Amino acid sequence: MNRISKDAVIIGAGVVGVSIFNDLTRSGYDVAIIEKELDVSTGTTKANSGLIHAGFDCKPNTLKAKLNVEGNAMYPEICARLGVELKRLGAYVVGNDEEAVNNLMEKGKANGVKGMKKLSNSALHKLLPNLTPEMTTGLFAENAYIIDPYFYTICLAEEGVINGGEIYFDYHIKSIKQTANGYVISNGKEEIITPIIFNAAGAGYNDVAKLLKSELYNVVHRRGEYYVLDHSEKDVVKSTIFPLPTKAGKGVLVTPTVNGNILVGPTSYESDDTTVTTAEGLADIATKVKKMVDNVNLGKTIRVFAGVRSIVGEDFVIEPSQKCKGVINIAGICSPGLSSAPAISQMAIGLSGLKYDPTIRCNKIAPYTNLSKMSVAEKNALIRRDKDYGLIVCKCEGITLGEIKDAINRPIRPRTMDGIKRRVRAGMGRCQGGFCNDKVAMIISQENNIPLNSVVKEKSNGYYMLSRSGVNEKL
Ligand SMILES: Cc1cc2nc3c(=O)[nH]c(=O)nc-3n(C[C@H](O)[C@H](O)[C@H](O)COP(=O)(O)OP(=O)(O)OC[C@H]3O[C@@H](n4cnc5c(N)ncnc54)[C@H](O)[C@@H]3O)c2cc1C
Repeated sequence: MNRISKDAVIIGAGVVGVSIFNDLTRSGYDVAIIEKELDVSTGTTKANSGLIHAGFDCKPNTLKAKLNVEGNAMYPEICARLGVELKRLGAYVVGNDEEAVNNLMEKGKANGVKGMKKLSNSALHKLLPNLTPEMTTGLFAENAYIIDPYFYTICLAEEGVINGGEIYFDYHIKSIKQTANGYVISNGKEEIITPIIFNAAGAGYNDVAKLLKSELYNVVHRRGEYYVLDHSEKDVVKSTIFPLPTKAGKGVLVTPTVNGNILVGPTSYESDDTTVTTAEGLADIATKVKKMVDNVNLGKTIRVFAGVRSIVGEDFVIEPSQKCKGVINIAGICSPGLSSAPAISQMAIGLSGLKYDPTIRCNKIAPYTNLSKMSVAEKNALIRRDKDYGLIVCKCEGITLGEIKDAINRPIRPRTMDGIKRRVRAGMGRCQGGFCNDKVAMIISQENNIPLNSVVKEKSNGYYMLSRSGVNEKL
């Protein structure tokens, strides 16, 4: 059996695991991530509101409050370094309960959130002319951002790889044995030896904890469903608009996305770890959003999706295991987990005894080729150099063959259809891949030199096309 030694192993390549991976690789450690799926960001990190919250909604003196505010402050520098778009649009919270708005203002103050102001009825309607008349009071927090959560996580992971980290995809842990010096993780083919393990497996936390024989937590899942609206609706709102929060969460919001869509949702229903969308959930969103904003046209929906929050009590759990020396338990990272991820990483690294020092390895990733951000002259120059940049594959989003090939030939080579979609947006538009999926599958097959019938959508058995024999080749 193949044996590899690592300074630390992170289990789970969501935004939390990848943030730790990135920080440790840049600090000079030899680390690996183990991920059961075929790409990074295939769990909760791919399906959320994509907001870097200001932090006024969290209960004061909790990890959520502290790490949200700290993480929020770290995002501008990280995104600038990675070349990832982060838009500071600010966030409104609106409703008709003056006292609830005052409470939020107070919480924000207690959490150290800067740049919040309360808005009168007239100020609110002047700033947001599409609010319904029932919305009579609210607040604005200027330090709220929108981000593409999966693209951010992919870039963070790529930076970790070019700074020496390794990612083991499709790695299904069979056993974790404790030894005198640490742990031996095995999938039956490859053993990874390490003194330190970060359990950042999200909804899979308890499965990993059982293998480790470390602490189990009572994890509750709450599903959140969304509508994604077409680019034609991009001007419906210019900032994120939340209703006043309830016990179930932040409520049904409307927000622009960095890619020019509008997102409406989420619901919050207790569920299993399943990402189905339901007629009931979607109807619930439609009713709630109409009460808040009167010009959202759900008839312009191009997709619906759902993500699942993993909740442990009222706060995040980030602590060293009392049962397994060198194991850091990271559980219950529900919202605002994306906003908090950079700060969660630093806290977890501190608890492990490793030292965060990002001056050790400083390789930076090359920016993605993105023709939509180029001038006509720049595009023409690129097309003259290579005609693949003049060949449009995804008509809805205007993505070229050259951009898809570039996305494949990166530090982490995507081999799935969704991997391409999340990197360059081919298949993200109005037709949802109806006209380009077959071409994308062929490009993945050719560039990775793998059989066409082994190309999958996302999961290792989610074949895009069936072979004549009925047996597809494994990736
Ligand atoms: C509806 C919704 C809306 C949200 N909106 C926001 C928001 O706007 N802002 C915000 O800050 N937060 C938001 N969140 C929360 C945020 O999305 C999460 O906190 C964050 O994505 C959690 O990241 P993670 O890395 O812990 O988990 P995940 O992204 O789920 O990653 C865990 C990874 O572990 C892998 N894994 C699991 N088991 C194993 C195993 N046995 N072996 C190997 N790998 C394994 C999984 O495949 C997965 O890739 C929202 C969440 C939801 C559901």
